[in-house]
Amino acid sequence: MPHNIDWKNLGFEYIQTPFRFLTKYQNGAWEKGGLTEDPTLHIHEGSTALHYGQQCFEGLKAYRTKDGSINLFRPYENARRMNESARRLRMPEIPESLFVEAIKEVVRANEAFVPPYGSGASLYIRPLYIGVGPNIGVRPAPEFLFTVFCMPVGPYFKGGLVPTNFIISEYDRAAPMGTGAAKVGGNYAASLLPGYEANQRNFSDCIYLDPATHTKIEEVGSANFFGITKNHQFITPISPSILPSITKYSLLHIAKERLGMETIEGDVYLDQLDQFTEVGACGTAAVISPIGGIQIGDKFQVFYSETEVGPVTIQLYNELVGIQFGDIEAPEGWIEKV
Ligand SMILES: *Cc1c(COP(=O)(O)O)cnc(C)c1O
Repeated sequence: MPHNIDWKNLGFEYIQTPFRFLTKYQNGAWEKGGLTEDPTLHIHEGSTALHYGQQCFEGLKAYRTKDGSINLFRPYENARRMNESARRLRMPEIPESLFVEAIKEVVRANEAFVPPYGSGASLYIRPLYIGVGPNIGVRPAPEFLFTVFCMPVGPYFKGGLVPTNFIISEYDRAAPMGTGAAKVGGNYAASLLPGYEANQRNFSDCIYLDPATHTKIEEVGSANFFGITKNHQFITPISPSILPSITKYSLLHIAKERLGMETIEGDVYLDQLDQFTEVGACGTAAVISPIGGIQIGDKFQVFYSETEVGPVTIQLYNELVGIQFGDIEAPEGWIEKV
């Protein structure tokens, strides 16, 4: 184990680990690729990733279990989603086996950086796919580069789950039939100013409405939204401009199959938020971010509590994290051993 890492106090910050995987798509085929120690990419100045945003990425985690083995959580779902993003941007598909094997190779090579079981920390894995090579016209790149790197990250909430407040944004993060469902950097660039303005007003992040009518909740910063109703329903928005969160689909399954809840993917109208007793955001990095209150125009609406987390949110969180760290039996196919 690296001696200089304080596993219990890790945040979500870049830490350089020794190895990353790198491969190229050239002349219509993927190279075998392999590990490298160089964290700097050397790419052509004409690369489409730099000029025209032809790039997409993924995010997933590796978890150290009690018996010392390492779990990946649903990595084939990330492989499929990266290929959905790639199709939207006219990038060649990455074979799922190449994607998952690259991840395993990187995790094994950096095994000393997979945080110990019980620390709450995990290894964050970032697959990145970019268009490179000489070009200036608006067209797909002549070559593509796929890389995977990783770093240890802490639990998002060091003191356990804590609710925070959010604000409804007047900006959109994506257009109705745009790239909202693709995990592309452009959506994130578009979210930097709204996020900054939300932070300036002491909110954790902003909530985006559906870009066509601005009446329904779509995304919470870079996470999906869910709400729990008085009638024990789990409701999450559905829209072609939402990023399909693997955490969200996992929570839908857990809510239904393990907590016996009714689950609904449907419209979440701003003027019907009263139906929710608990609301939160979900995604790989934070797992679940409980939402204390939402600023809607000049009205501030509190849900379960501004300081305490609701019981269903806690159940969902414990079940999901238990599955990820191997303490609770996983649904078929959810865990891939490294
Ligand atoms: C990655 C991402 C999420 C969360 O997806 P997970 O698969 O759960 O990590 C949600 N919203 C946006 C915009 C994202 O980019």
